Amino acid sequence: MSKVYLLRRELREFEKEPKALVKFLEKTPLFSKIKPKDLVGIKIHFGEDKNKGYIKPWYIKNLIEKIKRIGAKPFLFDTNTLYRGKRTNAVSHFNLAFFEHNFKLLNIPVIIADGLKGKDYFEVDIEGKHFKRAKIASLVRDLDFMLVLSHLTGHVLFGFGAGIKNIAMGCACRAGKMEQHCETAPRVNHQVCILCKKCINTCLYQAISLKDEKIFIDQDKCTGCAQCISECPKGALKIVWSENYQPLQERMVEYAKAVLNSCPNHFFVNFSMFITKECDCISKEEVSLVKDLGILAGSDVLSLDKATVDLLNQQEKRDVFKEVHPDVEYKFQFEYAQKIGLGELNYRIEEVKL
Ligand code: SF4
Ligand code: SF4
Repeated sequence: MSKVYLLRRELREFEKEPKALVKFLEKTPLFSKIKPKDLVGIKIHFGEDKNKGYIKPWYIKNLIEKIKRIGAKPFLFDTNTLYRGKRTNAVSHFNLAFFEHNFKLLNIPVIIADGLKGKDYFEVDIEGKHFKRAKIASLVRDLDFMLVLSHLTGHVLFGFGAGIKNIAMGCACRAGKMEQHCETAPRVNHQVCILCKKCINTCLYQAISLKDEKIFIDQDKCTGCAQCISECPKGALKIVWSENYQPLQERMVEYAKAVLNSCPNHFFVNFSMFITKECDCISKEEVSLVKDLGILAGSDVLSLDKATVDLLNQQEKRDVFKEVHPDVEYKFQFEYAQKIGLGELNYRIEEVKL
């Protein structure tokens, strides 16, 4: 049975005492796991443009200082997005994180882990139902320690997102995200396409051609690398999102397993505060759905995510994410994660009082 640590706290209380995070984490095994000189990659979501729900730099300023005092070398990382937005390539992603969302406040590097255009990855063997190999951002391979900070939110495809989703999508390169999300090649919106042919020149697999004065994508040649989507100047190439929640969740869980296999030293912290209906990739300001629960932490991502959702539902006396995303059976991911050995379903809560 895994131990999940809990600090009950509302965001407005945390704002008055941000040192509470370090005091809480001192009661967990986190700091004993980090060694001097370790390169500590802090996996975080910097928030899409206009989003206000992401983990703010001030939440973790004291945590970064504490990791530095151990003698380790912390840095922040995330990967480029599959969809078009301000986080599609490393330059605009860095600018958004460092300058616009003010992560420069932390005085540590911000690194986009899958390179300039999301093409830098290595392959991890995985005995999954869907994948035999997962495409993980190159940087993950060389981490001494990975600290995963996740903001609990709802999600239109997965029902909710926290630690599992953060590492599965957030540590995959663009092609890795594509193969988790889709079963098919991008679709062309001919109404919008201006026939500039940039996509033809970008595709390394000769999957795109001009047929009858229209862009044509050969499904058999397409590998799902998603490069054409980010290159198209008109947004004419669309991701065909898979909506069948069961295989979608299975693919995400298999990727999460591949990430943990390649980075065995890790720890997770979930911020169950300012919980929104949609994830932090959404480019708009959202409202908080429910009362804040607090901060949860643990070494086992499965029990941590399950406990985070269970405790929120117990507090609210209803199934919060089922209510806002009724078509998604989000609990399926827990069962599948246990089946493939991602972690433990059973947990024991250790509530920390400061
Ligand atoms: S890059 Fe976009 S606009 Fe240009 S030809 Fe391809 S689909 Fe059309
Ligand atoms: S997704 Fe990749 S392989 Fe498929 S058409 Fe686009 S660029 Fe080519």
